[in-house]
Amino acid sequence: MTQTGTGDRVVRVVDATLPSGDRTDLWLAGGRFVAPAGHADETVDASGLIALPGLVDLHTHLREPGFEQSETVLTGTRAAAAGGFTAVFAMANTLPVQDTAGVVEQVQSLGERSGYATVRPIGAVTVGLAGERLAEIGAMATSRAEVRVFSDDGYCVHDPLLMRRALEYVKTFGGVIAQHAQDPRLTEDAQMHEGEVSARLGLAGWPAVAEESIIARDVLLAEHVGARLHICHVSTAGSVDVIRWAKARGIAVTAEATPHHLLLTHELAETYDARYKVNPPLRRAEDVEALRAGLVDGTIDIIATDHAPHPTEHKECAWAEAANGMVGLESALSVVQAAMVDTGLLGWQDVARVMSAAPARIGGLRGYGRAFGIGEPAQLTLVDPSVKRDFATSDLRGRSVNSPYLGRELPGRVEHVWHAGVRTVAGGGLVETLGSVD
Ligand SMILES: [Zn+2]
Repeated sequence: MTQTGTGDRVVRVVDATLPSGDRTDLWLAGGRFVAPAGHADETVDASGLIALPGLVDLHTHLREPGFEQSETVLTGTRAAAAGGFTAVFAMANTLPVQDTAGVVEQVQSLGERSGYATVRPIGAVTVGLAGERLAEIGAMATSRAEVRVFSDDGYCVHDPLLMRRALEYVKTFGGVIAQHAQDPRLTEDAQMHEGEVSARLGLAGWPAVAEESIIARDVLLAEHVGARLHICHVSTAGSVDVIRWAKARGIAVTAEATPHHLLLTHELAETYDARYKVNPPLRRAEDVEALRAGLVDGTIDIIATDHAPHPTEHKECAWAEAANGMVGLESALSVVQAAMVDTGLLGWQDVARVMSAAPARIGGLRGYGRAFGIGEPAQLTLVDPSVKRDFATSDLRGRSVNSPYLGRELPGRVEHVWHAGVRTVAGGGLVETLGSVD
């Protein structure tokens, strides 16, 4: 991992509030938490700030190689750092697709040069995301990138035999298949959630059952094979019920919800503002409530951003022509605070679990999501939960600005971040000098 050398400085973080609510000083040096050293090269006043383990995003679209007009590994990891993340898992729908050892190693190398966050490539399940034959899963797993998460995200692995074979393959080395659950036949031409709003607007609907039926099939396949399954961006109340049933049965399934599905609803399509167009679509308020309840009772394991940058011309157009997806790295923690913490549903210890420890565990990422013990890697995010801010394009540090929160008041702000002991955010601003020149 490329470091700038600043990791050797002794930093004292004074009076930070731990997720438990206890207050303490934290000492960092040489990329790790260290015992109180007496002398500090730098002192950071953290009174009033919550100290979280560096956040880990299991679902990020970094767009490089192939779609650098939307995002690059460098700009995407800058957005990640600004949002408090120290590691991201990069989805496979690049061009070329991340379906060979060569491409995942390329993305791994780009991440190592960025300096802003650890990048773990996700491998494609099928060649070219085409859903026809398995990609080089074994070669990606044994490559220098050591891929453990495989996904055709953007597309559902729809063929049940192919899904079975993929689960059997990753079982041999403890990998996981992350399924984008969307029956393609039930969602042909779909533009938004199928319901009274889609009927009123005359837009083709994306019915909840198209997600729920795939999840039901796949948890049964995972049980049959005895392999690990992860469900991407769960969006409906029925999906939460199916996953809750599967977990009660002992099936090795984990699941994620996105920040936007925890806060926003399908009525926003009435604006015809394509910043609200996303896949799976924004759903009903009842679905939002069910996802929140699923996080509280552990049915939903993690929050993942599905950060999906798009150039302006792909969003400032008619709804039906617009691309699906929202940027989400920079706003995620604030949206989670609004939807889950300020509502009293989760505490900061839970946030540390669902945004750091659990995604690191699911993705097989060691050294992340840990308590701040002496000798542990210094992945640290300090957030000020008392701030209220109007979210603006100046808060976006990636290459694209397709955020649904622009102009909205959001709580909380990431003030300081250390990635492997290296400062990436200081005083609420990105440290500009890391990484390769873009
Ligand atoms: Zn997806």
